[in-house]
Amino acid sequence: MEGFFMAIWKCTQCNATSEGRCRPKVCPSCGASKEQIAKAE
Ligand SMILES: [Zn+2]
Repeated sequence: MEGFFMAIWKCTQCNATSEGRCRPKVCPSCGASKEQIAKAE
């Protein structure tokens, strides 16, 4: 089950969230760099 772990990633610029195992390289909504994307649980 651990292999299917999904995290929620939240953009601190536009508050968009995305779900995935890895931090997105860029925000899918506003294009902010990964430094602007925080893990949200
Ligand atoms: Zn964003």
